[in-house]
Amino acid sequence: MPETIDIRKGLEVFRARLGEADAAHLSACVHCGLCAESCHYYRMDPHLENVPARKLDLVAQVFRRHFTAMGKLGLQGHALDEGMAKAWLDAVYGRCSLCGRCSLNCTVGINLPRAFKAARAALTAMGMVPADLQATVDNSLRHGNNMAITREDWLETVDWLQDELRAETGDPLAEMPMDRQGAKILFTVNPREPKFFPLSLQASAKVFWAAKEDWTLASDGWDLTNYGLFNCNDKEAGAITRNLVDAMARLGCETLVIGECGHGFASARWEGPEWLQGTFPFQVRSFLEVMDEYLEEGRIQVDPCRHTLPVTLHDPCNLVRHGGLAEPQRRILDRTTSFFQEMTPNRAENFCCGGGGGQLAMGAYKERRMRSGGMKAKQIKDSGAKVVVAPCHNCIDQLSEINKEYKLNVQIKTVAEMVADALVTEPPTGEP
Ligand code: SF4
Ligand code: SF4
Ligand code: SF4
Repeated sequence: MPETIDIRKGLEVFRARLGEADAAHLSACVHCGLCAESCHYYRMDPHLENVPARKLDLVAQVFRRHFTAMGKLGLQGHALDEGMAKAWLDAVYGRCSLCGRCSLNCTVGINLPRAFKAARAALTAMGMVPADLQATVDNSLRHGNNMAITREDWLETVDWLQDELRAETGDPLAEMPMDRQGAKILFTVNPREPKFFPLSLQASAKVFWAAKEDWTLASDGWDLTNYGLFNCNDKEAGAITRNLVDAMARLGCETLVIGECGHGFASARWEGPEWLQGTFPFQVRSFLEVMDEYLEEGRIQVDPCRHTLPVTLHDPCNLVRHGGLAEPQRRILDRTTSFFQEMTPNRAENFCCGGGGGQLAMGAYKERRMRSGGMKAKQIKDSGAKVVVAPCHNCIDQLSEINKEYKLNVQIKTVAEMVADALVTEPPTGEP
């Protein structure tokens, strides 16, 4: 917390984030309370401060006080002072993963996450962003990736994984190309992969190998994450997106493929062009769309008999509810295993795992994060699955913690791992 808070700056940023429609939303709540049951924070801890409408009201009070005629006369709303800024911090950083489920179920269609993001942006401008979240953003700005992995470590890891890929496929020419000029696809990854989950990166490479794809990794501009989406500083978010755009220009690739990450996909495909105020001269696709296409076109074959345990699928909010990408992963799983079953609810109505909105990077709210994740734990238990597939490394981290905390005893995998494990380079032995 800074010694002095620049309230004027906070209000300026807050107002600039709100268009006319957002401003109208701030006074549209009819206090029906229906959003409460939509929120995983409220469901696992039913207190007033966890009700989405209550969080919205804190934001709306400030808007009314500072930006309406009645408010300017001191007749309504609440000023943005230190106390209110702390209440905002607790509500929009500490009790919200920006998952958008409340908005989907709001009686009058209020876009609550937009209001929460405006408040986050104001807090960030006032220096009240949680320090560990900001450190993640700073890592991306300074080191080109959010975990400050050095270039040497990145190159060495890929080199080692390439050896592993050759051993696994028995193909001495199998490659994980680095900086291949003019490759059709630039594949970007979440730094958690080289750091903690190298086998998931190897699985993606194996899929590309099987499809005989013309692809490459990049020595710079390889990190698909963007925590600027969560501290809501558009300038910083744009600078992070710029790393990907520059890598595409440097390598002359045709398509930017975003590995399995919900917020990374939303950042590159939907938010990035807005942050940089222009359209991209290349296509942005999720790796899920690419793998789905490989299967559809018969470029790769899988044997569903390889997976023998019941499998369920987690829908990352940023990929599905916000990003509208729900079906490719289902088509892939339908082909990859005979034991796929949905959890309930699913697709756009799915519950957040609790790790979104940058929560995994904010240590102060860990206890709330784990409690809110109880909703996802219940969904997984009810599904009876032994394998949970999550096309998002953020979610995978949270799901791994939930797995331990709630003693779920499940395996957690990416979609690429499911595909790679089922790949056949000869005709499948089981039923197609
Ligand atoms: S966006 Fe998600 S976490 Fe935030 S208040 Fe709404 S339902 Fe709850
Ligand atoms: S569902 Fe919408 S209108 Fe009803 S209380 Fe929640 S935010 Fe307000
Ligand atoms: S961590 Fe996963 S489930 Fe949670 S908000 Fe992000 S994308 Fe959604």
